[in-house]
Amino acid sequence: MAFVERRDAVLLSFTSKINKIRTFALVLIFAGIIIMYLGLFFQANPIVMTIFMLLGFLAIIASTVIYFWIGMLSSKAVQVTCPECEKPTKMLGRVDACMHCNEALTLDQSLEGKEFDQAYNSKKKSRKD
Ligand SMILES: [Zn+2]
Repeated sequence: MAFVERRDAVLLSFTSKINKIRTFALVLIFAGIIIMYLGLFFQANPIVMTIFMLLGFLAIIASTVIYFWIGMLSSKAVQVTCPECEKPTKMLGRVDACMHCNEALTLDQSLEGKEFDQAYNSKKKSRKD
């Protein structure tokens, strides 16, 4: 239970989209390994074991595909210099977070300030301490 809660917290918190997808791919690899490992407990039942092995294998294949996808996305992403930590970061879409400090960034002048900041400020601050 504790593990699931912690993982959700990581996935739901405001981080860079690329980092978020990367985290998901990493979780998927571990899930695949765990599913395949669980399959070993069903050696008496070859059908169940095969299903577990296939599911685990598919999860690992899926995460490989996601890693390729991240590579393609980040080649299309806009490279900007973060105003907060002054490191180069990549943005996906109009609104994204800095990969290094999770500062909220936007390419759209009209989104600057208000709504966006209010929605993410608390999470951003709690991650910074
Ligand atoms: Zn930054």
